Amino acid sequence: YFLDRPYRGEQEIRLSGENYHHIARVMRMSVGSRFYGVFSDEKVCICEIGEITGDAVVARITGWETAVKELPVHVTVSCGLPKADKLEWIIQKGTELGAFQFLPFLAERSVVKWDTKKEAKKRERWQKIAREAAEQSHRSHLPKVSPPVSFQQLIEESHTYQYKLVAFEENAKEGEQHRFAEMLSNMSEGGNVLAVFGPEGGLSLDEIKKLEAAGFVSCGLGPRILRAETAPLYVLSAISYHFEL
Ligand code: SAM
Repeated sequence: YFLDRPYRGEQEIRLSGENYHHIARVMRMSVGSRFYGVFSDEKVCICEIGEITGDAVVARITGWETAVKELPVHVTVSCGLPKADKLEWIIQKGTELGAFQFLPFLAERSVVKWDTKKEAKKRERWQKIAREAAEQSHRSHLPKVSPPVSFQQLIEESHTYQYKLVAFEENAKEGEQHRFAEMLSNMSEGGNVLAVFGPEGGLSLDEIKKLEAAGFVSCGLGPRILRAETAPLYVLSAISYHFEL
């Protein structure tokens, strides 16, 4: 359970709200049951329930989890805004595969028109999906989902990243297909990666050119055309494989 605050040296924690509801009502845990608590500074404690009241769970910290669950590079997944359920899928599966954060952007060919009046509700839902997926997959980092940014904002944001790639199916052709592998082999621990993907209709040539001018390497991801929601998962899996095997 994500505790949404840093560790301050306490021996006991108190969980309320959604966490309480999940522990006491959904999982029906009882006194003596154990669970992981994750502080916002990514310290993961092992907790044992001491008391369950009408609206809170009080648990004792009995130990610390030291196994590293995070990827050694921070990967920001930036998708051209696809249809709603596709982005939800990307957030859920991308979180399982270790994405650091999600930065959707409004692409030229995004068919969904972004309604800023509904932004707060949408973000809340996306963040909930990320939280549940992060808990499910025992992450120590809770990925942040940002509201969609403009293409220009994406370019500006990109300057702070060390490794920048844009997935472009045209570069999966013979003679060009090595770029992603090359980028992977140059990737070292501690770096940050910005990976950009098109929406269902792909990225325009103009967008690709502007990204390349901003230092992005346009990479093919194999000879098959992947759906907008599959391409980010391919990249995350490849990065995971590169570092962990
Ligand atoms: N433009 C294409 C079309 O409509 O036929 C396909 C777009 S594809 C469904 C969506 C996005 O996934 C692309 O913009 C690209 O970022 C990524 N993608 C899919 N397959 C890819 C591949 N083989 N290599 C690189 N990127 C790929």
